[in-house]
Amino acid sequence: MSEIDLTGDVAVVTGGASGIGRRISLTLAEHGADVVVADLQSDPREGGDPTHERIDAEFEGTGRYVECDVTEPSELETAVEAAETLGGVSIMVNNAGISRSEDFLEIDEAAYDRMMEINAKGVFFGAQAAADRMIDAGREGSIVNLASISGVTGRATGVHYCASKGAVRVMTYAMAAALGPHDIRANAVCPGLIESPMTRQDLGMFGEDRGATDTYERTAPLGRVGQPQDIADAVLYLSSPLSGFVTGESVIVDGGATNTWSGVA
Ligand code: NAD
Repeated sequence: MSEIDLTGDVAVVTGGASGIGRRISLTLAEHGADVVVADLQSDPREGGDPTHERIDAEFEGTGRYVECDVTEPSELETAVEAAETLGGVSIMVNNAGISRSEDFLEIDEAAYDRMMEINAKGVFFGAQAAADRMIDAGREGSIVNLASISGVTGRATGVHYCASKGAVRVMTYAMAAALGPHDIRANAVCPGLIESPMTRQDLGMFGEDRGATDTYERTAPLGRVGQPQDIADAVLYLSSPLSGFVTGESVIVDGGATNTWSGVA
């Protein structure tokens, strides 16, 4: 198999300080890309050196950090602008997101708006900012948006999360239609349950209450939860020329959980 070489590519990864985004950033850099990490803070939620510092220390490519709240389109533009100094964005990974698991009747308007602002609006304007630069420069590009299996099927807790991720998945198809004529591809990745600060700290899924985690391990065909590297590998493929004819696709990376049924019927 050919080695993926992203030398000369510049990636912007929102939410790249922690969890899945951190692993995506490190993986793209490992394959030669320069990476702008755009996040609320540079310190990883799981501890350790900031992602951009690790890139500079371990890989040939350059790592940059830009403070960015994805709910502010102007801050996304600033992050994309930072990529210009490295040669210009050619890979945009809209990864920043939050998850909450409130019951349907407990979700108030503020919680709904917050979820949509970060998870859906943040992806929309991140992609727009990057596409604008790519088109201006006449540069081919790849946009990868982080959706979720919760944007493919529904679940009882976190209905607002499912709504935001369904929006990401379908807006990605529409982006592919709009941007294809400019040689810009747009794809979504739909992770299953991945061990990250989100699932560990925000959703408490790897603590004392392992109910959902145990169920996942018991019922998903591959018998395990995912790791950030599982998602980073899919993003690497979608960012690279290996996926040059793939656009308007959403790739489920979940160990088989979504498309199989372990019950009796
Ligand atoms: P995480 O909480 O571990 O990391 C998310 C990162 O996004 C953090 O660094 C955080 O600071 C950043 N972020 C949050 N709000 C932001 C904002 N307004 N502006 C800029 N940055 C912001 O989460 P994760 O598990 O790594 O999730 C990454 C993506 O993958 C999210 O979109 C999430 O919905 C999606 N996803 C995760 C899972 C999972 O099981 N972990 C499953 C499906 C989808």
